Amino acid sequence: MHQVLVLNLNYEPLNICSFRRALGLLFLDKATVLETNGEVVRSERLELRVPSVVRLNYLVKRPRPELRMSRRSVLARDAFTCQYCGRQAEPLTIDHVVPRVNGGAHTWENLVCSCIRCNNTKGHRTPAQAGMKLLRSPRRPRFVPHISFSAFARAVKVAEWQQYLEPFAPRLDR
Ligand SMILES: [Zn+2]
Repeated sequence: MHQVLVLNLNYEPLNICSFRRALGLLFLDKATVLETNGEVVRSERLELRVPSVVRLNYLVKRPRPELRMSRRSVLARDAFTCQYCGRQAEPLTIDHVVPRVNGGAHTWENLVCSCIRCNNTKGHRTPAQAGMKLLRSPRRPRFVPHISFSAFARAVKVAEWQQYLEPFAPRLDR
């Protein structure tokens, strides 16, 4: 199953669609191929390099959605990296920087990705009390692509898509 990354006219990531749907856009001259994946499909009348990234030939105006905070989106913001020790050791969990028992909020600014070991070491203490330091202070991501955040986190690993998605990754938008 080929999937195709669809960019807006201004290169903003809009969608991930099926190969079939992308062909529809191309045949109607609604999109332009930016990247192919190296494969070729052939039929009796046609030989086509399989598109991997297409850009619409017109601008879709959509309000940017608010990024809903979830466990998954906090982990993705922190690139699945423990914000105390810098390791990507599974299993990862969500740490309240200021513990909930001390009135710490369940917000972007107070939640970080943490490995279980650091989370246990820290316990119900602030980083200062526990003698631990955050790699960076957590923030609400400012920019959100239209693609759902978990799909985005997967999509950014596709080689041909990276250069188009990385500028929009919330982690890089700090
Ligand atoms: Zn850790």
